[in-house]
Amino acid sequence: MKYDITIIGSGPGGYVAAIRCAQLGMKTALVEKYSTLGGTCLNVGCIPSKALLDSSEHYHNAHKRFEEHGIKINDLGVDMPQMIKRKDSVVSQTTAGIDYLMKKNKIDVHHGLGSFQDKNTIKVLNDKGEVNTFTSAKTIIATGSKPANLPFIELDKERVITSTEALNLQKVPDHLIIIGGGVIGLELGSVYARLGAKVSVIEYMDNIIPTMDRTMGKDLQRSLKKIGVKFYLQHKVTGVSRSEDQVTVTAEDKKGQTVEFLGDYCMVAIGRKAYTEGLGLENVGITTDKQGRVEVNEHLQTSQDNIFAIGDVIKGAMLAHKAEEEGVYVAEYAAGQKPHINYNLIPGVVYTWPEVASVGYTEEQLKEKGTAYKTGAFPFKALGRARASMDIEGQVKVLADKQTDELLGVHIIGPRAADMIAEAVIAMEYRASAEDIARMSHAHPTYTEAMKEACLAATEDRALHV
Ligand SMILES: Cc1cc2nc3c(=O)[nH]c(=O)nc-3n(C[C@H](O)[C@H](O)[C@H](O)COP(=O)(O)OP(=O)(O)OC[C@H]3O[C@@H](n4cnc5c(N)ncnc54)[C@H](O)[C@@H]3O)c2cc1C
Repeated sequence: MKYDITIIGSGPGGYVAAIRCAQLGMKTALVEKYSTLGGTCLNVGCIPSKALLDSSEHYHNAHKRFEEHGIKINDLGVDMPQMIKRKDSVVSQTTAGIDYLMKKNKIDVHHGLGSFQDKNTIKVLNDKGEVNTFTSAKTIIATGSKPANLPFIELDKERVITSTEALNLQKVPDHLIIIGGGVIGLELGSVYARLGAKVSVIEYMDNIIPTMDRTMGKDLQRSLKKIGVKFYLQHKVTGVSRSEDQVTVTAEDKKGQTVEFLGDYCMVAIGRKAYTEGLGLENVGITTDKQGRVEVNEHLQTSQDNIFAIGDVIKGAMLAHKAEEEGVYVAEYAAGQKPHINYNLIPGVVYTWPEVASVGYTEEQLKEKGTAYKTGAFPFKALGRARASMDIEGQVKVLADKQTDELLGVHIIGPRAADMIAEAVIAMEYRASAEDIARMSHAHPTYTEAMKEACLAATEDRALHV
């Protein structure tokens, strides 16, 4: 068999690249070592975590908020196995959808571990030990990432777990200790806090979601505290041990004193690491950087010009939609087109409640760059739509160039921020000014009016409803 292009790894980077290559007329193969397609995102990442976030949010609302809405419920309870079963069926329907898309686009799917024999020969070893070898003019490495760990922590995957196991717990923990206050830790921490677990988040830095605008981290911490999440910032974890069903985490606080946390589960959520095991990179002379990521040039080409790499396995934000953009980029570049990705306009979202969503520069980055900027903010509590649903926490914060008024960053914490950020991405892609958005009609009553008001606030302090 001879292919124009082969993609190793079927996550959002890989399967999207495969579809775009097929659309552009290339004979395309996709190699995946697991039995289901979709990678981390569909199987143990974005989709299952959002399924559990939704279920737990329903429970939380029924438990804490329905009464105020005038809705009475008796005998409310959590059926964890059913919640996990529903999540599993969402995952299997979604991964089956990728099988359908591969067939529709006439992409050959090879299940097994893919590796390079040489720069044009791909070997696939399946779980029955059978080897299939074929040639490919070009290849895209899209092998993604795995949870990172600290060298002294032994992950037993029962009580000392990663996000993968946290998506499959059959009972609500009594006390879940989370190492890491980033997106994954806070999303899964929210799930279990809403379901009644005591949740403690231990974070090394002095704020949570440290890569986002600092205001967002502060506001989110305040909101999550209200649902019972406890935060231990500037704490350095020094040890994790397990005895029977109990886990002990030791940490050093900012004064250097040892603190001990006792729980029944500890989730390590300190980030993810690029994954290239078994790929045979050494057979093609492709190197990785200090963090194990495949090195690429501005066209996402490795040191072999017919081999590309995309998604979590290379530098940049570890996000499904970033991987997808790169998949499309490489397919189009390989077809001789001149695609472009604006990395500054890849939004980041945290699916807690309130949600957090950001695009462009943070205030801290603008200060560091020495850019003269102005800010405009609008709180959801001043918005009719938010008051109608009683989702009044959070704000929209916009950052615009002081001289030109061009939008430089938009940071939202509040209801439906994940969907609202799309308006900011479009505006910034077209290099809109804050006043451009402020002058556009936004339907009333909607959450998006907060975006218009924040832009009005940035435009000569003209907000109408504060
Ligand atoms: C709990 C959790 C929640 C997340 N939520 C979000 C979210 O809401 N939004 C978001 O944007 N991102 C989210 N992410 C991150 C997102 O899942 C990743 O950024 C995304 O999956 C990366 O896509 P990828 O295609 O680069 O790699 P992956 O999705 O990791 O896919 C790589 C695939 O390659 C396969 N593979 C590896 N080596 C080989 C080999 N040698 N041969 C054959 N196959 C191989 C793997 O089995 C895997 O299927 C989340 C992650 C986690 C863990």
